[in-house]
Amino acid sequence: MHRKKEIVTLDGPSGVGKSTISRKIAASLGYTYLDTGAMYRAVGLHLQQMGVDAGDCDAVTANLNTLTIRLLPARDEFSDAGVLLNGVDVSDQIRTPEMSMLASRVSAIPVVRAKLTEMQRAIGSQGRLVAEGRDLGTVVFPDAAHKFFLDADIQERARRRVRQLRLHGSQADEEKTLEMIRQRDRYDSERNVAPLRKAEDAFLIDTTGITIEEVCARILERVLSSRPGQHL
Ligand code: C5P
Repeated sequence: MHRKKEIVTLDGPSGVGKSTISRKIAASLGYTYLDTGAMYRAVGLHLQQMGVDAGDCDAVTANLNTLTIRLLPARDEFSDAGVLLNGVDVSDQIRTPEMSMLASRVSAIPVVRAKLTEMQRAIGSQGRLVAEGRDLGTVVFPDAAHKFFLDADIQERARRRVRQLRLHGSQADEEKTLEMIRQRDRYDSERNVAPLRKAEDAFLIDTTGITIEEVCARILERVLSSRPGQHL
């Protein structure tokens, strides 16, 4: 019988708590954590630094061929994953609202998706991975053993994002953040390649009004109960 890969995928729009939840799940299971959004952010920053127009396919391809991205483990459970872009630490630079929008734009470019999907599959080839993003359950790891799709009310997602940005010292405005989330939702779900959508076999969790701990407990319960002889 074909055994599914020991991979947990968490997909969903921005502000549903994917990163915090994924880091906690990875720590509980002792698995590697993969933040694929950080990779799209790093590509966005790189193309911006090189002055490459996202519509110039040849220039984008040439720049991708010389690009190295290394993910660093999060400093602690409250921090996002770090990134080395061509050996330079850009962990803080990629986390601004502007970089979120840029990442969303470059993530619609087919060669960018092909390159990052290949890198993500290489990271997941050994299994024991918790991977989060937009297309992990649908495109990157369609044979993952455990798939989840997180969603939440857009107002609550905006509030959470504002809290997170303020925690990192930025002056985030609620109205502006809500509008950016709305725009990003639209870009991410309407693009032609790997749009944001729930995999048919993913388990949907609406995180509106429930705590991070509760969401983690639900996920762990499903993951562990599907392993023979395992208990919470
Ligand atoms: O998850 P995060 O907000 O860091 O992602 C930044 C952007 O990268 C998203 O808005 C999305 O456009 C893109 N992305 C993607 N596919 C993924 C992860 C992120 O298209 N698997």
